[in-house]
Parts: sequence; structure tokens; C-alpha cells
Amino acid sequence: MDVVKEILTKIKMYQTIIIHRHQRPDPDAIGSQAGLAEILRESFPEKNIYQVGGPVEGLEFLAQMNEVSDETYKNALVIVTDTANSPRISDERYDLGAELIKIDHHPNDDPYGDLVWVNTKASSCSEIIADFYHLNQDELVLNSNAARLLYAGIIGDTGRFLYPSTTPHTLEVAAELMSFDFNPAELNRELEQIPMNVAKLAGYVYQNIEVDEQGAAKVILPQSLLDEYGIVDSDTAAIVSLPGVIDEVLAWGIFVEQPQGYYRVRLRSKGPVINELAKKHHGGGHPLASGANAKDQKEIKAIYEAIQKLCKEYKK
Ligand code: AMP
Repeated sequence: MDVVKEILTKIKMYQTIIIHRHQRPDPDAIGSQAGLAEILRESFPEKNIYQVGGPVEGLEFLAQMNEVSDETYKNALVIVTDTANSPRISDERYDLGAELIKIDHHPNDDPYGDLVWVNTKASSCSEIIADFYHLNQDELVLNSNAARLLYAGIIGDTGRFLYPSTTPHTLEVAAELMSFDFNPAELNRELEQIPMNVAKLAGYVYQNIEVDEQGAAKVILPQSLLDEYGIVDSDTAAIVSLPGVIDEVLAWGIFVEQPQGYYRVRLRSKGPVINELAKKHHGGGHPLASGANAKDQKEIKAIYEAIQKLCKEYKK
């Protein structure tokens, strides 16, 4: 039996299904998680379906999380979406269930779970969930809210169909989702709009970005600056892609100081593969979009030098 059928069989077997996603969720984490939850609620109204995890950090308009007791995990099927590594799963009770399924589109470095469905060619985990519905259309029902959530995940992870992970299939899936009853333009606005303090931070990013002659760029955002602008870590999602519009920038790192003193590193690239570099610094991710951590300025320097090297090799 292929893994898709096996997953559906497991879903049908369990009365309680709890769906997790990664910490610091982005629209694809919430979209794939809550989108799957909506499909299962609509398809199996007699089952108990929960979506769980920590704060959704500015994405409340997409979905709210459910509160679940430890007891609920007994005899439950747990599904984790969009999460490559088990330490990044939000709500560490994910392994309290009877069985665990991983559904993801990141490289499968940590194949946790009794069943694993990973498709690194998918633009987003939401695209995989839409495929899951499609492949089982005779047994599953997709409602408008599920369509809205999955659409949000796809536009989130593709930068509105801009990034190279966008395929003809992505557009076919998005077109089908768009035919459901929700307002895609309003959803785009909700996802794209930023408060004034984040707009001012965008100004800071453009004023202070450093780019070398090979196109390697960096921006450091110290905690004192974030405090001055009234910015919290999750707000920085809106500025991560900004250096990409500068013609001479090829790959970049945004180093966001955390209240604990270490730096969250957000790496992006238009060509050089940066996820191996991320893995060397307690991180991981996609070939062109990864995250890592730097403990101090010395590690920031080492990461930036590595980006410079990757850009140089890429341009050879
Ligand atoms: P971010 O810059 O946090 O938006 O992350 C970009 C990509 O890298 C996402 O696909 C994340 O799942 C992945 N990523 C970010 N941080 C980590 C980490 N610490 N470990 C593994 N993957 C990460």
C-alpha cells in the first residue's frame, strides 16, 4: 500500500486525531495543520480532531489552536505537518499518542514517525495536504475554510508564486482552491499588511544592509534596535525577503538578536544552496530558505563568511 493510502487508513482507524506543526509558525505551518484538521472534521464529523501548539504569533486570523489534555493523547493518532526535525515540533507531547505520522516538504533529515510522507518537490506542506485531499476525493471533503487555509500556506511559502519552488502543479492546486468560497484578495492583504513599526524596520534593513561584490549580504538586528522599534521576533518574518529584491544581492542572512542574547539566523538565497550551512549552525531548512542560530558575533562572522564563500563558488 502506498503511504497516502496508509495515512488515510490510519485516519479512519482512530477516533481522536491531534495535529501538530512547528514552533514559530508561518502561514504554511498553520495552513497545512488547520487545513488538514478542517478536511478531517468535514469528512469525519463523528471523530475528535484537534489542532494544537504554542502561540500562532500574528496569524490568529488564520486559525486558533485547541486545548488538549494529556489524557486525550491516549489512543490518539498524532499527525505533524511542515516540521522537519522533532525538536521543532510545537507542543512536545506529540509523542504521547498511539501512533505518529509526519507529513512534510523539507529534506527528511529526521524521519520521525511511524509513517512518513515527505515530498521535497512540493512548494509547501499545504500543497501536499491539498494533494492528500485530491488523491482521496471519494472519501474526503474539502470545505471553504480548508481551501482558504491551504491557499494561505501556498502563497506564504511561495512568496505569492515568486520562489522557484512554485511549479505548474502548485498553480493547478491554487486554482482549484481559489474556486472555493473565500476572498483570496482579502487573504493576501491580511498576510501582506504590516504595522508602521515594521515598515520602519524595513527602512532600517534597506539603509543598513551590507553587500559584498559577490552578492553576499547581511543585516544584524540587535535587541536594542528591536526594542526601539517595538518589534518582537515574529514581526521579522515580514522583512526577511526584502533583500531579495535588490539586484546585486544573491544570498543573505538576517541575524535577529533574541532576548536571551543569542541570534536567530534567517538565511535566504537566489541560487547558492544554504541549508547545509544552516545545519552546521543548529538549523536546517530548504536549499534556498533556511534558519539557524548564532551564539555571538563571532559565529555571525563565521556564517557570513560562509555565505560569501558560497556566493563566490556559485558565480565561478
Ligand atoms: P525561517 O527563516 O525561520 O523562516 O526559516 C526558513 C526555513 O528554515 C523554514 O522552512 C524552517 O522550517 C527552516 N528552519 C528555520 N529554523 C530552523 C531550525 N532551527 N532547524 C531546522 N530548520 C529550521
